[in-house]
Amino acid sequence: MSTDSDCLFCKIASGAIRVTLLYQDERVVAFPDIRPQAPVHILVIPRRHFASLAHTAPEDTGLLGQLLAATTEIARQQNLADGYRLVINTGSDGGQTVEHLHVHLLGRRHMGWPPG
Ligand code: 5GP
Ligand code: ZN
Repeated sequence: MSTDSDCLFCKIASGAIRVTLLYQDERVVAFPDIRPQAPVHILVIPRRHFASLAHTAPEDTGLLGQLLAATTEIARQQNLADGYRLVINTGSDGGQTVEHLHVHLLGRRHMGWPPG
C-alpha cells in the first residue's frame, strides 16, 4: 500500500493517530472533521495515499468508485434523507489544505450555491 510517512491522513488511516472511525473497510476509512462546517461533517478517505484527486490515474477508477460508494453508505447511516453535499477540494485554487485525497460529506443544514 502506498503511504506517506509525513501525511496526517495516512497516519489516521493506519491507526498511528487515533480518531473515532465512523466507517472502515479494506480500502476506505471515514472520521469526523476536526473543524466541522455543518452539523454532519465527515471526511472519507482512501487508505492509499494520493496527494489529491488530480494525482489519481485511469486505473484508479475502481478505488474512486469504492470511495463514492462508501460515502453514499455513510450518508445513509447518518440518516441524511434530506440530502447532503460532497466536496473534493483539489489543489490550491480548490482550497485543498491536506494533501491526501478526501471527500467532505456535509449535511443536516441547507447548503448555499455558489460555494465560496
Ligand atoms: P481540505 O481543506 O484539504 O479540503 O480539507 C481538510 C480538512 O481536514 C479540513 O476540513 C480540516 O478541518 C480537516 N482536518 C485538518 N486536520 C485534521 C485533523 O487532525 N483531524 C481531523 N479529523 N480533521 C482535520
Ligand atoms: Zn496520505
